[in-house]
Amino acid sequence: MEVVSISTSRKEEIVDITSEVRNAVRGFGIGDGIALVFSFHTTTAIVINEAEPRLLSDIDEFLKYVVPENRRYRHDEIDNNASAHLRATLLGNSVTIPIVNGDVKLGTWQRILLIELDGPRNRRIGIQAVPGKIHHK
Ligand code: ZN
Repeated sequence: MEVVSISTSRKEEIVDITSEVRNAVRGFGIGDGIALVFSFHTTTAIVINEAEPRLLSDIDEFLKYVVPENRRYRHDEIDNNASAHLRATLLGNSVTIPIVNGDVKLGTWQRILLIELDGPRNRRIGIQAVPGKIHHK
């Protein structure tokens, strides 16, 4: 497993980590297989979607609409970031991506996005590759 550090700069932020993941996977030197991209945190998420700036701001507004802040969440009595945890549970903290010919295989508009929900912080993302023949046509 390779672990990359990503520094976020705002409370909520979406960071395109596709190049970091791609570099790590290429470095593993395996032909075909699958890659796991895994966040070691409870207030981040990892998703695959389009990194179009207006869409990213729509995602930000969508998350705030679905999980509002200041709802008297019980966890807020501990460290005042329950909404970040709840948003993270909706999105998931890992993605799995096919590796074909030593590189991640993504659709034309797909990017690997780290969603910061309680920044700014230094975040650690693990990238693990599992070799195995994928039968693709
Ligand atoms: Zn917390």
